[in-house]
Amino acid sequence: MHYQKAYRIYRVLLLTGLGLLLLNALLGRILSEPVFHKFLFLDTAIALAGIAIGGKYCRCPFCRKPLDLRSKLPAYCPHCGKKLDSDR
Ligand SMILES: [Zn+2]
Repeated sequence: MHYQKAYRIYRVLLLTGLGLLLLNALLGRILSEPVFHKFLFLDTAIALAGIAIGGKYCRCPFCRKPLDLRSKLPAYCPHCGKKLDSDR
């Protein structure tokens, strides 16, 4: 899997999982419906799947070392210094 595609999947799954987690936690709290608490595991699983995909596939195409996922993808690999693709 291309590292930029993995990065996009990572971002989408992480933000979706965290958003649903917050939404279900709030709905469960406000409506006092325990059914929303069952979704918390699913929401957490979505976010963790994103983190797993990002950690496994978001790597430099040259040296295969992991890229930092906490911010935007760098223009140059912080490990080997080679220029990463700019066609995002
Ligand atoms: Zn590299």
